[in-house]
Amino acid sequence: MAHELPPLPYPKEALEPHIDAMTMEIHHDRHHKAYVDNLNKAIAGNAALEGKPLEALIGDLASVPDNIRGPVRNNGGGHWNHSFFWKILAPKAGGAPSGKLGDAIKSTFGSFADFQAKFEAAGIGRFGSGWAWLVSHGGKLEIVSTANQDNPLMGKAVAGCEGKPLLGVDVWEHAYYLKYQNKRADYLKAVWNVIDWNAVAKNF
Ligand code: MN
Repeated sequence: MAHELPPLPYPKEALEPHIDAMTMEIHHDRHHKAYVDNLNKAIAGNAALEGKPLEALIGDLASVPDNIRGPVRNNGGGHWNHSFFWKILAPKAGGAPSGKLGDAIKSTFGSFADFQAKFEAAGIGRFGSGWAWLVSHGGKLEIVSTANQDNPLMGKAVAGCEGKPLLGVDVWEHAYYLKYQNKRADYLKAVWNVIDWNAVAKNF
């Protein structure tokens, strides 16, 4: 069964003015679609890999043959990361998390503002392309970042970090360049306005 591009869960203009419609259209319809298409191409003809759910596939890259491991890592990661990202964004969202997640963020990072500053620093500090993540790892919250389309589900040996992603923010230039140009820090500040903390709490 081929992997499929999931539809955006809201209209492409829904996250305006924080993330513009043109960026959403190109990001979803072209970039995300290319990851899906190239993942399907990479695993075509390998019945065992074709039958694996995406999360199992990228969580066990060691079992992927050498000659396609790179494309599966990049495009499988790209497909998973973007599918995840669309779901934790929403219009009329933002604010601060409450409940158990809000408490865990406060007890781990000191305050929500301290958490935000540390998360933004992880995104700004990622040289080139990648992602900033909030993960639950061994019962604790951690902020990590990955290069390219790696993610914490790939494990420490591959991605340099591990844990269950709760929140992930794309810091590739394609995620922000049309509106924010080189100002990744401004994009990261704006993204807080469209984070759906109910969706993030469901991942917790
Ligand atoms: Mn992206």
